[in-house]
Amino acid sequence: MTPPTSSLRMALRAAPLRSVQSSHAPRRAPSSRRALQVFSEGNGRFIVGGNWKCNGTKASVTALIDELNAGQLSGAKVDIVVAPTFLHIHTAMAGLDASRFQVAAQNSWVEDFNDPTHHYDSNTGAFTGEVSAEMLEDMGIPWVILGHSERRTLMGETDAIVGKKVAHARFHGLNVIACVGETLAERESNSTLEVIFRQLQAVADEIDDREHSSWGSQVVIAYEPVWAIGTGKVATPEQVQEVHAAIRKWLADNVSAEVSKATRIQYGGSVNAGNCEELAKFSDVDGFLVGGASLKGEDFIKICNSSAVHYKAVGRM
Ligand code: PEP
Repeated sequence: MTPPTSSLRMALRAAPLRSVQSSHAPRRAPSSRRALQVFSEGNGRFIVGGNWKCNGTKASVTALIDELNAGQLSGAKVDIVVAPTFLHIHTAMAGLDASRFQVAAQNSWVEDFNDPTHHYDSNTGAFTGEVSAEMLEDMGIPWVILGHSERRTLMGETDAIVGKKVAHARFHGLNVIACVGETLAERESNSTLEVIFRQLQAVADEIDDREHSSWGSQVVIAYEPVWAIGTGKVATPEQVQEVHAAIRKWLADNVSAEVSKATRIQYGGSVNAGNCEELAKFSDVDGFLVGGASLKGEDFIKICNSSAVHYKAVGRM
């Protein structure tokens, strides 16, 4: 696949990005949705992920499962995927109402080697402390979150490793939430889209052309500006919509129009029960990836129910 040189430059010119605003700063309400850059809306079902990160005891996980099962969903279509730690996955799978909640792992292993066949068939073995995509497949775990900024920053996962992990997980039939996003310094130096397109390219490079048709249904992109994760600073709806529209255009230019339409793009970064509805109104926001607020059952259910606001705003159910 060729690098997205000219389309990247065009998209950068088309979408000048605003710098970070604190959630406490006064925000201008969007005067009209039409004022925002919309490339082409997706057609996927709303999807909300709950990233439990490295949290949980036996007691707190059981309590959270009970809260989620007791939650009243609005009836609007929504896929809900929660990601407990590896230790708590079994409890979550056994306890959650499987008709409403699916489970994701927070990581899966791939050896960092260049396998031109894309078959990645030697990833179980002498890799102490890791869990392979093969194992997730074997255990019937349908989803995995890959490329979270905490893993990129704290564990040194490069774009190339994330790309290989995504391709390997897909090869084993897993659905992937692939995270992309810029740091504060990158946003302030106007390189947001360059960073995101580079992260997307690393995934596209690893996915065989023949597999592109299932990309849309199997890979969800989570746009998570690093400066908004766990900080209480939420990207403005305009900032979110601009980046999501740019991602969708990138997919159309570099993968296919079909994949661009089918790919669901989540926003993640300090989403909570109070701000989810404002964000869900935007046509290119196909859902959320939620950290802190996903540990509070009632709040998380409210975030899932913002799907109704989304469908109403975009005029489809
Ligand atoms: C996350 O961890 O993916 C995340 C978005 O966290 P938070 O909602 O706490 O910002």
